[in-house]
Amino acid sequence: MRRSGSKERIRQFLLAHIGEIVTSTQIRDAAGANVIEWARRVRELRYEEGWSIITHNDTIHLKPGQYILKEKPAEKIGVKFMRGISAKLRSEVLEHDGFTCQMCGLTPGEIDPNTGRKVCLHLGHIKDKSLGGKDELSNLRALCSSCYQGAKNITWEKPTSVWLLSQIRRASQEEQRAVYEWFSKKFGE
Ligand SMILES: [Zn+2]
Repeated sequence: MRRSGSKERIRQFLLAHIGEIVTSTQIRDAAGANVIEWARRVRELRYEEGWSIITHNDTIHLKPGQYILKEKPAEKIGVKFMRGISAKLRSEVLEHDGFTCQMCGLTPGEIDPNTGRKVCLHLGHIKDKSLGGKDELSNLRALCSSCYQGAKNITWEKPTSVWLLSQIRRASQEEQRAVYEWFSKKFGE
């Protein structure tokens, strides 16, 4: 089946911005298509081809009109579930980690000072698969490209300030206030 022009342009645009927040305006401009058409193409990529495109419906970290393609889709349509980590699990891990690299604290869209490129998040195993680590929420974490490359076979043990802050960011204002009050008592005047 021939790929439609606008859909292919959306594919290329999203692939060039994996892990970054993109807006509906950017996607529409890239597609050169009308609103109804580009929205339909995005839905097709998401639901028919299994692309891990997330929206504000999936996470509190996005506003309406913002999208993230979380990672490079499988080359061949239909083989994505053979890789072990489903789109749902990916989504859960990223949400769990507040879309924050669990080693250095960078988030998608920021510039990685190590590479000068925009940060993309990957999923890394906490306990490496070669050591018996499983593909499950408790054994996966979000890592930027730099940390991902350096993190193979390293076991993560203690909660770091980065992880703690990423959790606090996810919490409701009420919970954040409770944490603030606790710190005020502990470190306050
Ligand atoms: Zn990192």
